[in-house]
Amino acid sequence: MQKTLIILKPDCVQRRLAGEIIARFEAKGLRIAALKLIQVDRALGEKHYAEHAGKPFFEGLIDFITGGPVVVGVLEGNEAISVVRSMLGATNGVAAAPGTIRGDFSISKQNNLVHGSDSPESATREIALWFKPGEVVDYTVAGAQWVFDGA
Ligand code: UDP
Repeated sequence: MQKTLIILKPDCVQRRLAGEIIARFEAKGLRIAALKLIQVDRALGEKHYAEHAGKPFFEGLIDFITGGPVVVGVLEGNEAISVVRSMLGATNGVAAAPGTIRGDFSISKQNNLVHGSDSPESATREIALWFKPGEVVDYTVAGAQWVFDGA
């Protein structure tokens, strides 16, 4: 089972879409392994988005991600990283396909509601950045065998 980091960005919280979007991930069959609402400071925002440092949109992105609280979580499931990425859709909400989260709720390149780790390496780095080990909880979800048969 794979774990991935999600961030419901400030636009998602402010637009009161957090519950609706978490419900999509749960309905897909992903297990919530960690979840918290926090105010991000610039240092954490800059660490999370370090790969974009120096790009023209970087300062605006840090203003955005620190501009209000976020809900950050860890989701677990079969192929969770690629499953979440495909549920998010393309980065730019204008281009994102209908049916995806960004396609259904965003018309912006920056304000695209949700972050999801893009690789196993990113997921490992990001989960360690946002959560202490004891905050990521292992438990068995009732009926898990009906969601994924292990094949
Ligand atoms: N972003 C932006 N302008 C751009 C590209 C990206 O503001 O031209 C923001 C957007 O919020 C995006 C984040 O920077 O989600 C990280 O960009 P990345 O290319 O990693 O997109 P993602 O993996 O989130 O789809």
